[in-house]
Amino acid sequence: MIKLIERAYNNKNRIAVKSEGYSYTYKTLLNKSESIAVELLAGKRDLNEQRITFLVNPSFQYVTIQWGIWRAGGIAVPLCIKHPLESIKYVLEDTDASILIYSKEYKDLIEPLFNNTNIRFIRAESFSNIFGLLPEVDIKRRAMIIYTSGTTGLPKGVVSTHKNIEAQISSLISFWGWNQSDHILNVLPMHHVHGIINVLSCALWSGACCEFLPKFNPEEIFKLFKKQEINVFMAVPTIYFKLIAYWNDLKKTEQEEIFLILKKFRLMVSGSAALPLSLHEQWEKISNHVLLERYGMTEMGMAISNPYNGKRRPGFIGQPLGNVSVRLVDENNNLVKVGEPGEIQVKGENVFNEYWNKPEATKEAFTLDGWFKTGDIAVLNNGSYKILGRNSVDIIKSGGYKISALEIEEVLRQHVNIKDCAVIGIPDEEWGEIIGVSLVLNTKEISIDNLKSWLIEKLPGYKIPKKYIIQTDLPRNTMGKVTKNELKKLFSVNIL
Ligand code: ATP
Ligand code: MG
Repeated sequence: MIKLIERAYNNKNRIAVKSEGYSYTYKTLLNKSESIAVELLAGKRDLNEQRITFLVNPSFQYVTIQWGIWRAGGIAVPLCIKHPLESIKYVLEDTDASILIYSKEYKDLIEPLFNNTNIRFIRAESFSNIFGLLPEVDIKRRAMIIYTSGTTGLPKGVVSTHKNIEAQISSLISFWGWNQSDHILNVLPMHHVHGIINVLSCALWSGACCEFLPKFNPEEIFKLFKKQEINVFMAVPTIYFKLIAYWNDLKKTEQEEIFLILKKFRLMVSGSAALPLSLHEQWEKISNHVLLERYGMTEMGMAISNPYNGKRRPGFIGQPLGNVSVRLVDENNNLVKVGEPGEIQVKGENVFNEYWNKPEATKEAFTLDGWFKTGDIAVLNNGSYKILGRNSVDIIKSGGYKISALEIEEVLRQHVNIKDCAVIGIPDEEWGEIIGVSLVLNTKEISIDNLKSWLIEKLPGYKIPKKYIIQTDLPRNTMGKVTKNELKKLFSVNIL
């Protein structure tokens, strides 16, 4: 039996979801998802891991469809509402989906697909209230295919079983102190593990309330904060960045009012990408919270987190969650000495078993003794892990050195004229790679010579970028992560 759904029976009369001005109880959620399951089954006894895609806004409707698919024995495949038709087609074909459920907002987008006779198209608004017998779903079954963010290449479909999902949720429940009286605001996309597991599923597991904001809007977020119902908030660094920018333009009295409200929040979390130190500092000024930074991946949910109680270290991701094993290894899978950089490898029931349809990539992703190779490089310092970056794009190999792009970015962001930046390695015959940086400026212009002199005071020579470009914005994916491979292509032109 799917535990997340079973647990909802204990909370029937509590509010599970707030969405588009309405409040829905766990009982309504159970009833509605049962009806959807019955309709998806269309007379069959079990969907037997058929892939059911759905394209709907983050909302109560989203949750009922996700649960409906699970209760009918299908694999839920959430689609990204910001993606163009080509990306949607990629997922439909890659998963060999049998059904696409869509809400009215997306009818025009997907209409060109209607002549595909292998797929049953269902309007999300058309589900009625029917009840019936549902299959018994074993927790070892596949539950979801979530696509990775596509930061380093084409997104890969990560298959999670119900058991994986349970493990991912339950480690966070205890570590972050989730409880029934929590009320979380979701501002994240719902085709990614951050929104699906950390926000929605943890709230519903706890008997808490998840409130959806369909579209990111700082003004609306602060308005909701002021209602003083919400006490938990989770977001990615770019969202905190935008909230800070909005807050900076508010009147002093309003800023003070917000401070007093946010101060009372139980928990505020950041993750999915490295949180710059400057954001840490500014958010603490706004809210009195040291943001809890954690580290995770689509392939395993969360693995490492700063403590809930106890000191959180800005620039660090903390300690392994309960029931998650973590080790750091060198290129030969040998443990590195404490204080030396190594690849993070993870083991536990939270870790996925397979990429969909990609047996080679699956094999590549694990060591012979079953550790998942994250591809992220970290060091352990005083019992806390610090991310140095992705081996593929953030660890620059230049003249025999291994240089962390994240460390250089952190230094550059301290410059008054630099709003944001991304550091990459550019292939070079002599050095292997040389360091390039894309700058987003606070001012109109910057003297690169002056910037270099400024950097000499802060970094050793081999860490100072050699090539510079200036952009109005960095290229990012829907999770707000900088797509460094895109950036690399730009370095063939426009170099200062
Ligand atoms: P793709 O695998 O398609 O290239 P992706 O790796 O960005 O995309 P996700 O699974 O969404 O897809 O993201 C996981 C990655 O996000 C991690 O491997 C890590 O590089 C990064 N990440 C997550 N949390 C943090 C953090 N707190 N600090 C730094 N990086 C983080
Ligand atoms: Mg990845």
